[in-house]
Amino acid sequence: MDFDRLFQAQLDDLKAEGNYRIFADLERKRDAFPRVTRHGGDGPSEVTVWCSNDYLGMGQHPDVVRAMVETAEICGAGAGGTRNISGTNHHHLLLEEELADLHGKEQALLFSSGYVSNWAALSTLGARLLNAVILSDALNHASMIEGIRHSRAGKVIWRHNDPEDLDRKLAALPADATPIVAFESVYSMDGDIAPIAEIVEVAERHGAMTYIDEVHAVGMYGPRGGGVAEELGLMDRITLIEGTLGKAFGCFGGYITGSAALCDFIRSFASGFIFTTALPPAVAAAARASIRHLKTSDVERRSQKIQVEKLRARLDTLGIPHLPNPSHIIPVMIKDPVKCRQISDILMDAWGVYVQPINYPTVPKGTERLRLTPGPLHSDDDIEHLATALNALWRQCALARQVA
Ligand SMILES: *Cc1c(COP(=O)(O)O)cnc(C)c1O
Repeated sequence: MDFDRLFQAQLDDLKAEGNYRIFADLERKRDAFPRVTRHGGDGPSEVTVWCSNDYLGMGQHPDVVRAMVETAEICGAGAGGTRNISGTNHHHLLLEEELADLHGKEQALLFSSGYVSNWAALSTLGARLLNAVILSDALNHASMIEGIRHSRAGKVIWRHNDPEDLDRKLAALPADATPIVAFESVYSMDGDIAPIAEIVEVAERHGAMTYIDEVHAVGMYGPRGGGVAEELGLMDRITLIEGTLGKAFGCFGGYITGSAALCDFIRSFASGFIFTTALPPAVAAAARASIRHLKTSDVERRSQKIQVEKLRARLDTLGIPHLPNPSHIIPVMIKDPVKCRQISDILMDAWGVYVQPINYPTVPKGTERLRLTPGPLHSDDDIEHLATALNALWRQCALARQVA
């Protein structure tokens, strides 16, 4: 049997649709971000990254890198085991304390990634709570969807960011159901933010548990970087807050926070927590340094907001269409997978600007886009260069402008 032919046939379909993914071969340089070395093409070149989730540049922050290096010097490279069997390092416990404090919760629990934390927590809650029904926002992340699916619990999808639809769907559940409302704060592809207060109110009225993914908000929103729920003073009304250490915190790993009983429950029953090697202690120490820094420093958050507003204003002057939203994410809409790829290629090759094209299935077909994430390390000159490049491309490709 020629299995490769089977693989190739499906890959060819992807390519024909323009949805085949090509990864940029990058080498990040400490102290140079958002400048990185790009390999490939005509040899290595320097490009500016405009689509990183290292939103605040914490991946190269001196305190963070120092914590990682020093801890590796002391503890070595790996954790040496699962959390259960010899792998629990003191640095994991310090980090969990830091995270519980960040979200004002009794406890926190670390996972290999944000993806794994959503998958493991939702699948355990859905599988083990009697008559669990998970009410999932229509645009929830793949990791939540996979967790819900794996749980085999009842699943009800409510209209994106629509508390009234959630209300109707909660009201329609049988009386013996255990409802869990799962949603995000900042949605990463459109950059819109959930009406958290209304959702929490509806959930409370129906006695439902609330599960929020704050992956694209932690570090960046709220006075201490606790996320949008912190900014709104709602953290104590949400049952479980999930986040990542890999985006604004600039490191790696995921977590949940909640009551001591909730965390103990997930710790004790989640296969995705139990049967896997713990995070390297050096990574845990680096993440903790990053969280501690962002708890007290507002410089990065303020400067990110300023650069986001500057870029939005420049795009508006040039009539380059982008989705309006209240977050730090600027989706520039192309609405065609092939064009989106081409524009991204030209930006990279001719302008030294790296923006990954976002195509199906990450976003619905026909809504292909360039997702820009300005941060505190993008200079005004970087913004001007990007605006000039996009303006030239809009002319060159005769793309539609948006009149203000
Ligand atoms: C990236 C992402 C995750 C996964 O987090 P990782 O730490 O990258 O695994 C979870 N939820 C959302 C909404 C995400 O965008």
